[in-house]
Amino acid sequence: MPNAALNRGSVAVITGGAQGIGLAAAKRFAERGLKVCIADIDPDALEAGAAALGAIAAGGADDVMTATVDVGKVDAVKALEEAVTARFGGTDILMNNAGIQPGSGIFGPAEAWTRILDVNLWGIIHGAQTFVPNMIARGKPGIVINTGSKQGITTPPGDPAYNVAKAGVKAFTEALEHELRNTADGRISAHLLIPGFVYTGLTARGRTEKPEGAWTPEQTVDFMMERLDAGDFYILCPDNDVPRPVDEKRILWAAGDIVENRPPLSRWHPDYQEAFAAFLKG
Ligand code: NAD
Repeated sequence: MPNAALNRGSVAVITGGAQGIGLAAAKRFAERGLKVCIADIDPDALEAGAAALGAIAAGGADDVMTATVDVGKVDAVKALEEAVTARFGGTDILMNNAGIQPGSGIFGPAEAWTRILDVNLWGIIHGAQTFVPNMIARGKPGIVINTGSKQGITTPPGDPAYNVAKAGVKAFTEALEHELRNTADGRISAHLLIPGFVYTGLTARGRTEKPEGAWTPEQTVDFMMERLDAGDFYILCPDNDVPRPVDEKRILWAAGDIVENRPPLSRWHPDYQEAFAAFLKG
């Protein structure tokens, strides 16, 4: 059954909406007859994204809004909410999706940690805290989609600041959904989008063609739309290399580090290579 919030005429705000997964989502929403606001830090990408959306939206350019916003800055997110309300009357779908992955090490640089946490974690908290009380007050069905990552669940070595931010997104979104489902007369649900490997500017790293193993942003969003209609909270996306059963094993193994009293990140510990390989097969 189609999600009640994804109706013709509803208003969707997508941060990081000028490119990649965010723009693909904005296009799908526009195809369903929603009005869309893409908010992004990159004004050139916003212009190109708006042109593409204007060609799809039921009301053309009148149904499309852009906003140059740094989601790490709470005042900018508040101004975004006010601008959307002034233009479209309020928000029904909030997709907190803006993200960066410049790389990090456990001991720094401190600037990278601050920026990654500001955008990837605080961006989502700012979005939810600014928009959701107004969405509840609107009294209509609504959805919040926060873009997390498998790296926030299995926390692989190599980019600890990103993992910390995305683990925070998972914890925040779980708490948000708990709060929303216990809100009297609440008609808003929260969802954690967990993409697999998706070929976008974030992951291209100089590549000009999609690697075999990656999904396109469009595939990812098609999967998201299907799972939103099904009512899933955890929207755990596969890709061409990693099917769902492998993700399930990896997630169970990570949780098993605590239950089995293994060292953390034992999946990457030489003493546990064989045991993990056997677990994966079993
Ligand atoms: P992308 O680079 O194509 O899109 C990210 C967008 O966010 C860009 O348009 C960028 O300009 C914008 N942005 C960056 N900083 C911003 C800020 N401070 N304020 C507002 N906008 C800002 O990358 P993508 O892969 O589409 O990423 C979307 C989300 O998906 C991110 O949260 C990312 O962490 C997550 N994700 C991506 C993958 C993947 O494989 N691509 C996997 C897991 C999670």
